Formats: sequence, structure tokens, C-alpha cells
Amino acid sequence: MVNIGLSTGMFHKFYGDEEINRRISHISRWDVDVVEILFSRLFMLNIPINPENKEFLKKKKVTIHAPFFVNEGYTFCMLGHDEIKKLVSIGKDLNAEYIVIHPNQVTDLSILSDYDFKFVFENIKPKLTDTYFLENMKGILDKFPDVGFALDPGHSKHLPMDEIIALTKKIKDLREVHCRIYDSKDFIANGDKTHSYLKTLNANVLIEGVEDFTHVHEVIKKMREIVR
Ligand SMILES: [Zn+2]
Repeated sequence: MVNIGLSTGMFHKFYGDEEINRRISHISRWDVDVVEILFSRLFMLNIPINPENKEFLKKKKVTIHAPFFVNEGYTFCMLGHDEIKKLVSIGKDLNAEYIVIHPNQVTDLSILSDYDFKFVFENIKPKLTDTYFLENMKGILDKFPDVGFALDPGHSKHLPMDEIIALTKKIKDLREVHCRIYDSKDFIANGDKTHSYLKTLNANVLIEGVEDFTHVHEVIKKMREIVR
């Protein structure tokens, strides 16, 4: 069975970065299996999750997405021991399944083996650093056999969809696939044929964005039908 999740990142236009608890409690209105807590900026790692949200999260699969921006502006941050330590302690506290990391933003990937926690690398957009393009991820992951993979097809738009799927199927430990819904009404009415591959991948499907919040319930329902 494919689990369907929402990311707290879906609220970035609506709630401030500091409103991480408000984002989680908004997600609690919907029928999801997985909640991905996105700590997009470093300072967010210091915001405690409130008891009410912790109670809600206990009933769900929880995943964590590591920061990628510094505290203000859009400069990418780097993650070293201090940040990884905080992420792992949040992950353990929330009983998270794994931590998603952009591998180009870790000062030294070998430090991850110092932690008793599951990490998952996400493929990176072309132009950032070709080392972590989808085309190269299998090679990287072969060097880190304990690390899983998160596919963001939106980060590999230069490739045709069948090639994205073929490359992803070569990777052993695929944990999640990111997707965005650009037109909820159309998606609910017609589905999206490009999503039918999701059921063949056996990974969490993480909806990172929808363009409005009035139809999220139906979007999740439709996604369940597609991946069933
Ligand atoms: Zn990401």
C-alpha cells in the first residue's frame, strides 16, 4: 500500500516559517497517512512542537525534511554536526521514520554514519551540482548503503518521465516521491496520468503543494484512487 502524505511546506505562502505548529495543526484536519515536517530554515530547528501536535503526530507516520536555507533570504545553508544532531534529536522525539536531506548541503556526508538514524537523500535540481542529479544518485547511494532515496521528479524536469521512472527503479531503498498539484479541480475531475507510476514505486507519496486549500480533502482522495 502506498501511503499518502502532506508536507508542512505546502503552507509557505500562507503561514510564516516560524508558524510550524500552525502548519502541523492545519494538516491534522485532513486524512493523511504521513506528515512531513519541513524545517526549511535553520532557526526552525529550535521551535518546539507543541503537545497537541505531538499527540496528533503519534497517530501518523512522521518524516522530517532538513533545512536548506539560512535564517533569512535565499542563500543555501550547510549542515554540519550541530544541525544534524538537532535534526536527529527532533526525529527521535517525534518517532520519525527518516530525515530527508539535500546531499549537496551537508559539509561532509560521512558524518551521517555517526548517527543512529535513517537518512534519505533527495535528488537535486540541475545547475546546483551535477553530482546529485537523479542520473548520478544510484552511484552515490551505492557508497552509502544505509541511506534511502527521495525522488523529486520536479528536480529532474530535463529528463522524460519514463527515464525518471527507470532511473528511480534502479535505486533500492526509495522512501518517498514528491509531487505538486497545480490545478486541484482538474486533478480531482480527471486525475493525472503521469501520477499512475506512483503505485509501481512502493514509496510514500508526499504532496508538497496544492494551489489552494479548499480541495485538499478531495485531492487526497483522488490520489488514493490513483495509487491504489
Ligand atoms: Zn527537498
